Amino acid sequence: MGNYIIALDQGTTSSRALLFNERCEACGVAQQPFEQHFPHPGWVEHDPSDILATEQAVLVKLMHDKGLSRTNVAAIGITNQRETTIVWNRVTGEPVCNAIVWQCRRTASLVDHICSTDSIRRRITKTTGLIPDAYFSASKIRWILDNIDGAREAADAGDLLFGTVDSWLIWNLTAGAVHATDVTNASRTMLYDIHHGCWDPWLCDLFDIPRSMLPDVRPSSGSFGTVTSPSIAAGIPLCGVAGDQQAALFGQCCTKAGQAKNTYGTGCFMLMHTGAAAVESHNGLVTTIAASAPGTSHFEYALEGSIFMGGALIQWLRDEMGLLSSAAESERVALSVPDTAGVYVVPAFTGLGAPYWDPEARGAIYGLTRGTTRAHIVRASLEALAYQVADLMRGMQDDSGIALDGLSVDGGACSNDFLMQFQSDILAESLYRPSNTETTAAGAAYLAGLCCGFWNSADAIKDRRKMERRFDPHMSDKERIRHLDGWHECIERTRSHVVQK
Ligand code: ADP
Repeated sequence: MGNYIIALDQGTTSSRALLFNERCEACGVAQQPFEQHFPHPGWVEHDPSDILATEQAVLVKLMHDKGLSRTNVAAIGITNQRETTIVWNRVTGEPVCNAIVWQCRRTASLVDHICSTDSIRRRITKTTGLIPDAYFSASKIRWILDNIDGAREAADAGDLLFGTVDSWLIWNLTAGAVHATDVTNASRTMLYDIHHGCWDPWLCDLFDIPRSMLPDVRPSSGSFGTVTSPSIAAGIPLCGVAGDQQAALFGQCCTKAGQAKNTYGTGCFMLMHTGAAAVESHNGLVTTIAASAPGTSHFEYALEGSIFMGGALIQWLRDEMGLLSSAAESERVALSVPDTAGVYVVPAFTGLGAPYWDPEARGAIYGLTRGTTRAHIVRASLEALAYQVADLMRGMQDDSGIALDGLSVDGGACSNDFLMQFQSDILAESLYRPSNTETTAAGAAYLAGLCCGFWNSADAIKDRRKMERRFDPHMSDKERIRHLDGWHECIERTRSHVVQK
């Protein structure tokens, strides 16, 4: 067996390949951006051949740069931007049109039209764990069948295949031998029954999608065939696949109920493992299948929520307000004052998300006095990130009845020690920051490595993984309650019904 695992990380703006050694260290990376297409306002597309070409190119470059042949690589794992939809011809291999990217809003009215009653919407949520939205693949497939010349007829004749980006890569890397996806990606299509583990016939009929288009659904750590091209990688097994957020959860070794990860990027993405329970949310969160180690006899689930204004708030301070020269400077500036002097920033730029769901609300800064300085506003902005995470976490605990068991962190803003300490204080929980914050790629590598026996168990991976720093809460209960009460009062004042009075 080879000494390395390669993870292919196919993201929204770039394709990457990362090398992992037996000690679970990321020891090589190749990356290539690709073009984004915006043919109309609100539309986002990728050229599927760009996705494939850049992913193959970085795989070749990584192996070439590191002097690797196929015998050095035990397995390849794939993680990918989720929901993005590709439809191609099974005979020619040609996509019928560009990939419709998860961010694309072109099907918003189609979703409203198809999911027109409360009972339909409720049934979708019960079956798929999702809140009906254009984001997920189902309406994107339907749009392609309705709008691309000849697509409907070809699909009815059994000539078209659908896949999320993982399926598209697998099909091409195996020269058309395997048309498959994994359970985590399937659970983001809005066609998959997350309780029974099958494509749901009622949903396929509702969206008018022929079942012959849909890929075979396999465990995340399982066989997806063998690479045939590019030739340098021919013969390497493909045996780990997960959508990016579930891969990150697995890469953070959050495999037990209550363990959670938050990614502090432009937005924040938080997932909490809920074990064997598919928890239905009453706080606007979605229920999704988590990636499992091989041999797990049942599905494992997670609750998922996101925050629109994460690191983007710090970008705004830097680029629009001119309060910072870099995002990293926010830490020093925040620490130059002992507290925010009563200032709160509520970053409801596009409304309040879960658990509030108030799209009409708009952002506000409270508690300004003649003594307020930029440092207070910067500090209050970083604190706002932590409060939003705490609110989301409260929603998850409320829905699941499961207590949080540590928060693992990654993403650009997790390097901010002030933010991490405040987050730990406000959650009254320990935070874990790994040495390798490439957790998405790590998750794909771990899934592949566990399947092929490169690592023996999830515990063996956990033992090898290095923690860079742990943050423990130091704030007194009284202080924490005072901070949170102030925040929640500001949330109340920000709600749209209050503004309208
Ligand atoms: P994405 O993958 O979403 O593009 P990244 O994970 O690269 O984002 O994180 C970048 C975001 O993190 C930016 O919005 C930036 O403002 C924020 N950020 C980066 N470093 C820091 C820091 N030290 N303190 C606060 N925010 C930061």
